[in-house]
Amino acid sequence: MEFKKIQLNGFKSFAEKTNFLIEEGLTGIVGPNGCGKSNIVESLRWCMGETSAKSMRGSGMEDVIFSGTSNKPSKNIAEVLVSLSNDNKDGPLQYNELDEIEIRRKIEKDKGSKFYINGKEVRAKDAQMFFADLSTGAHSPSIISQGRIGALVTAKPSDRRAILEEAAGIAGLHVRRHEAELRLGAAENNLKRADELRRQQERQLANLQKQAEEAAKYKSISEEIKKVEAGLYYLRLLEIDNEIKVENEINNEADNQVKSFNDKLEDLSMKIIEKNKNVNPIREKNQENLSKIQRLNLELKSLDEEKDRLMMKYNQLERL
Ligand code: ATP
Repeated sequence: MEFKKIQLNGFKSFAEKTNFLIEEGLTGIVGPNGCGKSNIVESLRWCMGETSAKSMRGSGMEDVIFSGTSNKPSKNIAEVLVSLSNDNKDGPLQYNELDEIEIRRKIEKDKGSKFYINGKEVRAKDAQMFFADLSTGAHSPSIISQGRIGALVTAKPSDRRAILEEAAGIAGLHVRRHEAELRLGAAENNLKRADELRRQQERQLANLQKQAEEAAKYKSISEEIKKVEAGLYYLRLLEIDNEIKVENEINNEADNQVKSFNDKLEDLSMKIIEKNKNVNPIREKNQENLSKIQRLNLELKSLDEEKDRLMMKYNQLERL
């Protein structure tokens, strides 16, 4: 695979869309200090998946977005597109059918970065892996920044190993091995968690089984209790029925007695009426006799008085 083009848009000092074609042989960029030569190299590293803002000479990743000049307003989006030709079909297997591959990284203020391979959004890791498989990348020793040659010479053995691995074309494998190790670690952790979860579930199951047994026991006991209660209610109902029957009999008897008393009362009332019919004339007669007696008494009294007067006269006459 060969790098064919770098396109910058809104990236650092490149406010407008700018294409850098990488032709056959050696390509050099010449320009005065501060014209943006290093920015082009940085754009390549950035598109390869650089994560350190410091190594992009900024304090935050959004510093790569064109910040404006006295005569140009700032931008909100920076974009870098790296175009590779795959004529030799020597790239990663999954891209072998394609003749040209475009890797694009875009950053938008407050929204972060997005990566695309041939227009399809991918993870940052996928873009990094793509370049690792091509034995290059954002930290590749084949991209040497200004003043970094000395650092390379005095690099630690582990960093030098990275240079050798890249030269041998196995950097991608190394990254993949590391990724596989990470995945393996994660899978082991997942297994451990799954095992712990299984043990937890087993404990819960045993608990639930115990609870289910107790619930079944409780259910059968409460059914027994319900049956016994129903029997008791039935017996009580029979008792109440009998009590009602006895009460009804007593009531009927009392009703009969009241009826016979009423009959007797009616009889007596009739007799009283009859008797009253006989007594009335006697009473009137009696009244009449009483009046007569009163009259006679009055007459007797006046006769007595007459008698007394005559006696007095007689006595007077006798004395004469
Ligand atoms: P030298 O030859 O001195 O190393 P150079 O050609 O490599 O210089 P760069 O370091 O690539 O130049 O570019 C520096 C220029 O880029 C500075 O003028 C700086 O103002 C400009 N620049 C950096 N970041 C931004 C940004 N976010 N927006 C606008 N301009 C920027």
